[in-house]
Amino acid sequence: DLAMYRAKSLGRGRVELYDTGLHDIAVERLRLEGSLRRALANNEFILHYQPIVSLETHDIVGFESLIRWQRGPGDLVPPGDFIGVAEDTGLIVLIGGWVLSEACRLLAQLQAKFSRPEPLTMSINISPRQFIQPDFIDQVRRAVSGAGLEPRSVRLEITETVTISDPERTILVLKALHDFGVRISIDDFGTGYSSLNYLHRLPVDTLKIDRSFVTGLGITVEGTQIIRAILDLAENLKIDVVAEGTEHEGQIRQLADMGCHYAQGYYFSKPLPSNDLEALLDSSAPHSKVTARTTN
Ligand code: C2E
Ligand code: MG
Ligand code: MG
Ligand code: MG
Repeated sequence: DLAMYRAKSLGRGRVELYDTGLHDIAVERLRLEGSLRRALANNEFILHYQPIVSLETHDIVGFESLIRWQRGPGDLVPPGDFIGVAEDTGLIVLIGGWVLSEACRLLAQLQAKFSRPEPLTMSINISPRQFIQPDFIDQVRRAVSGAGLEPRSVRLEITETVTISDPERTILVLKALHDFGVRISIDDFGTGYSSLNYLHRLPVDTLKIDRSFVTGLGITVEGTQIIRAILDLAENLKIDVVAEGTEHEGQIRQLADMGCHYAQGYYFSKPLPSNDLEALLDSSAPHSKVTARTTN
């Protein structure tokens, strides 16, 4: 983009720079797309899992699955570096299908080992491109039923972007998923521009307050007010709220005081490889309370 801007502002005689810039970007994306295809074929994607914690009891109620690309030993690529290209090229449909079945498989394993009055849940990120696939509902059914899970323990995280692109179809798809029994979460809530008017027409179970608002908690007046507004809205609509990106004890205390029921963030735990989850759940059986850890 920068190269393009420079080329334009320099005018004639610099067309080559313009071409080269675009060409490099295109080549880089093509190369990344090829690598992502190979990564999928070679099973190089892995999921990390971050606990979601009750602010009343500090029990772990479930996990969110978060993808990483293990490109080589000690080379773990975060989703921000490849989800965009996967989305643009459509590869996200295949990758997302793998995420669904892998996260469901792991949840079934955890539920079998750690039984609870309320079964542990798994929250799974769904990209807009994946959501609009004609067979998306089938994909979800297959993953959930294939793992032998009760649908209610699976939570699909969609963003407001998904909900505004084709509102009427979104409502139909969400209703079908909800009738099947999976739960629906709106991720990064407050950062998009979905109309609040429309929200009550969606079968939404959970709002996840974006980290940017949690960061402002107790620091800016607006940060606190936005969170209060989201909590009020959720209470009126009888929707659960999870605060994302909680890092400090002060935020936890304030969120609990404000009536927020769940939180997720480094204060409790970073996302962990699946191998570490049993120890985490074991460490304080039977309720798996997580103790605050100092991070960074
Ligand atoms: P998200 O769904 O909003 O996930 C939360 C992100 O915040 C995660 O980053 C998580 O590691 C990070 N986080 C959690 N607690 C804290 C905290 O206390 N402080 C800070 N600074 N960060 C925290 P991650 O794992 O890099 O994922 C980034 C985004 O990539 C996700 O945002 C989601 O939009 C996307 N993503 C991840 N996995 C998948 C996937 O399987 N499919 C799709 N379509 N997107 C995914
Ligand atoms: Mg998410
Ligand atoms: Mg989120
Ligand atoms: Mg977020």
